[in-house]
Amino acid sequence: MTLSRPLDPAGAPRALRVVPPPAAIDLPAAERAAGDFLRALGVGTEVEKLAATPGRMARAYAELFSSPEFDLTTFPNDEGYDELVLARSIPLRSVCEHHLLPFVGVAHVGYLPRERILGLSKLARVVGHFAARPQVQERLTKQVAGWLQDNLDPAGVGVVIEAEHTCMTVRGVRAAGSTTVTSALLGSLRDDARSRQEFFSLTGTSR
Ligand SMILES: [Zn+2]
Repeated sequence: MTLSRPLDPAGAPRALRVVPPPAAIDLPAAERAAGDFLRALGVGTEVEKLAATPGRMARAYAELFSSPEFDLTTFPNDEGYDELVLARSIPLRSVCEHHLLPFVGVAHVGYLPRERILGLSKLARVVGHFAARPQVQERLTKQVAGWLQDNLDPAGVGVVIEAEHTCMTVRGVRAAGSTTVTSALLGSLRDDARSRQEFFSLTGTSR
């Protein structure tokens, strides 16, 4: 990820341009490989109804591994707001790096502001940014929290992710309906029992 921090007067909105790492996506090669993969599994692609499937597979995964650039706009915390800011139930989709099958769910992302506050939609952007690659849920949770800590410098950050992993619900143990919950807490959301409890009760995930 490339970050540029434009110079601006203190007190002005400030934007960090967040640029995903250039994905070296070769769609024709991915399409050829998807065709080989299907045929190796005994799924013939010569019939007309499946002829376009390898291309669709390639484009579907390319989409799952792409996220748009965005500006992480922050504003001075002029009101001195120092209570929890929480974006709840942000839709999440990613791909498990073990099976390359999707996992889907929600993320709850909160922080305790210090000098600066964040445009609210940006919390969802940060989640989408880190979800757009092969992942494990534990690392995704920590990456979102750590990135906000580093770039917003809040008093505390909390991230909870609840997701259903299709590698676990449609294959393997076939534990349909089961979800996996992970959390990452930093700063006073980790150290202060009252803040931590408030965070978990507002996210609806009691700890
Ligand atoms: Zn998996």
